[in-house]
Amino acid sequence: MSHRAEVTDTVSVPGFDAPGKAPLILVVDDDPAIRLLVRHVLTEAGFRIAEAEDGHTALTRFSELRPDLLILDALVPGLDGFEICARVRQLPYGLHVPVLMVTGINDTVAVARAYQSGATDFLPNKHENWILLEHRVRYLLRAGEMLCALQHSESQRRILSLAIEQSPTSIVITDADANIEYVNPRFCEITNYERSEVIGKNVRLLKHPDTHSAVHRDMWQTLIGGGIWRGEICNCRKDGQAYWVSLITSPIYGTHLGKSKIEHFLSIQEDVTTRRTQEIRIRHLSYFDPTTGLPNRRSLRERLGQILSHVAYPQTLTALLLLDLDHFNRINDTFGHRVGDQLLQEVTFRFSELLNKTKNVAYLDEDRIHTVARIGGDEFAIVLIEAINADRMAQIAQQWLDALSRPFLLEGTDVICSASIGIAVHPVDGSDVDTLWKSADTALYTAKNSGRNTHRFYSHAANESGMRRMRLESQLHRALERKELVLYYQPQLQLQGEERIVGFEALIRWNNAEMGLISPLEFIPIAEDNDLIIPIGNWVLETACRAAAAWQVYGDLRVAVNLSARQLRHRSLLETVTQALESSKLPPHCLELEITESVIMQDAATTARLLTELKAVGLHLAIDDFGTGYSSLSYLKTFPIDTLKVDRSFVMDVGTSTESTHIVAAIIAMGHGLGLQVVAEGVEEKHQLEFLRGQGCDLIQGYLIGRPLPAAEFQTFLERCRT
Ligand code: C2E
Ligand code: MG
Ligand code: MG
Repeated sequence: MSHRAEVTDTVSVPGFDAPGKAPLILVVDDDPAIRLLVRHVLTEAGFRIAEAEDGHTALTRFSELRPDLLILDALVPGLDGFEICARVRQLPYGLHVPVLMVTGINDTVAVARAYQSGATDFLPNKHENWILLEHRVRYLLRAGEMLCALQHSESQRRILSLAIEQSPTSIVITDADANIEYVNPRFCEITNYERSEVIGKNVRLLKHPDTHSAVHRDMWQTLIGGGIWRGEICNCRKDGQAYWVSLITSPIYGTHLGKSKIEHFLSIQEDVTTRRTQEIRIRHLSYFDPTTGLPNRRSLRERLGQILSHVAYPQTLTALLLLDLDHFNRINDTFGHRVGDQLLQEVTFRFSELLNKTKNVAYLDEDRIHTVARIGGDEFAIVLIEAINADRMAQIAQQWLDALSRPFLLEGTDVICSASIGIAVHPVDGSDVDTLWKSADTALYTAKNSGRNTHRFYSHAANESGMRRMRLESQLHRALERKELVLYYQPQLQLQGEERIVGFEALIRWNNAEMGLISPLEFIPIAEDNDLIIPIGNWVLETACRAAAAWQVYGDLRVAVNLSARQLRHRSLLETVTQALESSKLPPHCLELEITESVIMQDAATTARLLTELKAVGLHLAIDDFGTGYSSLSYLKTFPIDTLKVDRSFVMDVGTSTESTHIVAAIIAMGHGLGLQVVAEGVEEKHQLEFLRGQGCDLIQGYLIGRPLPAAEFQTFLERCRT
């Protein structure tokens, strides 16, 4: 019998899906007839066969050929089957190879020994059971394969779990609602939490108040949107102490009812607290003064730059106060630098006390430190945000000076220390950091020259009106929504024929909670400078038309509404006017729009087109303050005007100034010559009325007839006139 194994190649084995070589089976039996039989049966079934007739050959063959299955007779010469099986199991490749032990007899002791020696299965009565062999072999191969796969995946799982458990980075796995399902030991090490204390809790548990909620929101949005979030955040240890982690968090998908959905989140975090602490230290060193702990010049300049770029001018004013200790050098010279430093620290302490009481002082957001800074040897700076007005600023500056007025006890000696303060206001005294700083410096210089222990504005007087304007501007933005605007109505009397009220002018008033009643002469120009005049003007038109429509019961009354230059040239004017008329149901001829002479004269061609369009609606057009603007009268013929309103300045002087008297008479005559109605404004005296009547003036308006009144009072006035 040859010792060489004869291997039969077959490409596919029925029952095996995997393409490639057919499984190799090593048959170990000393009986050549049995080997032949087995070879026949299994080759027929598509397997490859190798043979060995004794124990030692079997082991050599096994190592050489690495068969997929071993059929082993229990009784072979040399080593018996049990011994071969046990030795095969020792070989590196032999551990998982299925071994089918066969015997000629039905011997239960042999069965037990076979399993003890590591056999996978046992086939007794080999002479009778050959039919079963093929099936048994197939089953064992399949079971062996599955076992292998299982062992492989188990070992992979083990590696993964070991890797995660022993990972030097902290790992957190949560469910889709961010409730913690797993944390590794590194996580527990960093946070000081036991695993059992965090499992089932929401990751919110780790949130530190210093991490802005917007960061968490951003992270969450990214994750539920399927994205990966990377960043550094500050978290909380079990004892509440902050620690910084650099983290990558990503969603883990699973399938539910055939759909892929997020089932978990995986977060890998690295503790970067040491690095962050160093960064903060370095930052602190370069941004803070070591003697007082206050922000330094550089820090303040940066912060001021940020404030100025974000400040919602004109809603808020920002002031820079530079404070310089008077004669600080003398203290240094007398007591030495150590005491000088001590004084600076004491001064800082008093300032911090004051800060806690002073609102409006800016914060350095990140470090929660007020923007009081030490910007030089004996120089401090304060940034006041949302400063209300010069009075309030002066008051705050005085508080800072007062804070120093008590003596400082230094080395047993009472030391008196005063200071000078220079104030510059953004944007009046400078719209950027450099200019503002320079202005504050100049103001400081002036304060020192004014005898010290005092404060000075960069240009107090010059700024007062600017300040008021800024305040007005800032308040005006909210005037409409706060319902602070009201319309007053002033009657117009017909002079010729029957003397009766034929119309009225709508005049706007602004009643501000802080600043009281403000004249349109003051706030309309401000509203004109920005687009506020448009919503304000629209409101006036709507309100006046509505009032006039309601007062039609008192006669065919016409309401005069003032239009500003910006309104006239705004593209929506025509639409606004038609809308106001339509919604109030006021007949168009009962609306008169007043435009001043100077406005009409700007870009005459466009004006003519605009006025013609307006006129087409059916309303009246009046030239307001006539006589004060351009002297060219030729345009009167080209524009579709109905009314001239003689300016109050001429009417006022009628009878006392011959010049004004002549002008008024001439305007009336010229107006009539052009077929226009003439209205005289500002009639206060009876003799003015008489003169105007004599000249044929059509209507008069003025205190003599009635002052501008709020709607309710004006209605009473109209009622009284009717009776
Ligand atoms: P105006 O259109 O020439 O209005 C006449 C002004 O003279 C009103 O001042 C009125 O109160 C005042 N006045 C009337 N009769 C007399 C009088 O007998 N004596 C004196 N001393 N004054 C008299 P007011 O209401 O302060 O308005 C000033 C100006 O503000 C108006 O001059 C007008 O140009 C503007 N204005 C008023 N309301 C509005 C408005 O709703 N929109 C626009 N764009 N401007 C308005
Ligand atoms: Mg007017
Ligand atoms: Mg006028």
